[in-house]
Amino acid sequence: MIHEGYEARIEKAKRAIQYADYMVIGGGAGLSAAAGLDYNGRRFSENFGPFIARYGMKDLYTSSFYPFETQEEKWAYWAKHISLNRYETPATELYLQLYECIKTTDHFVITTNVESQFEKAGFKREKIFEVQGNYAFLQCKTACHNKLYYNEPMVSAMMSETENCRIPGRLVPKCPVCGGEMDVNLRKDRYFVQDQQWYTSEKRYNEFTKRALNSRVVFMELGVGFNTPGIIRFPFESMLSANPNAALIRLNRHDPFGMEENRDATVAFTEAMTQVVNDLLRC
Ligand SMILES: [Zn+2]
Repeated sequence: MIHEGYEARIEKAKRAIQYADYMVIGGGAGLSAAAGLDYNGRRFSENFGPFIARYGMKDLYTSSFYPFETQEEKWAYWAKHISLNRYETPATELYLQLYECIKTTDHFVITTNVESQFEKAGFKREKIFEVQGNYAFLQCKTACHNKLYYNEPMVSAMMSETENCRIPGRLVPKCPVCGGEMDVNLRKDRYFVQDQQWYTSEKRYNEFTKRALNSRVVFMELGVGFNTPGIIRFPFESMLSANPNAALIRLNRHDPFGMEENRDATVAFTEAMTQVVNDLLRC
């Protein structure tokens, strides 16, 4: 119901949250962008100067696919990328406010974001399903085994020993099983590792949505576009259409419209996400 005035939609969304027995939060790339975790602009140029000068990198997204010639260069770049997005950036205001907004309702988070902002903002780890990985872990590049390795100490060592956009050879991570190269645990090819924790989170998410199936459940979808709509967007629409007690609150600057039959059960916002979440918190 994007055609109603802003205040009317805010009131409707607030009421839905207030009366919800369950909330399912879906976080996409647009949420982190709105939170200030920009992948381009000043945040990129201020932090990646030497890499931009050397490799002509344009933004943090395309630079993730840069074909480095050596592992020493690859890990100098990735150490900085991981450190900035996962370790140096504290919980952002938008995620903190989001948590305030829903913390008294039984909730679960499904997200394609990989920087742990939900957890930093107060959401319990056992209530989060990070489908596409997390910056904090490394895996075998060819997925020879399904274990993940927490990388904070490695990243910090790499950062402090980076010189001329390279780390020393002795700091290059090697797979402890096959001895081959390692990668960050992000879904970008068929070698993405889903470890035991991933399957446990998936199971908890499925159990939660099953429990909420016929209840008063609010799906809150934030910044989810059409890169991977099969993970959050389409399942939310489908669970919504199957449950007459459900509502969908969609925050999306560019793609507010969903399935026609869900129109009356949807409150959509194209307004700035920080403003909307802030107004939802207003008494
Ligand atoms: Zn291996």
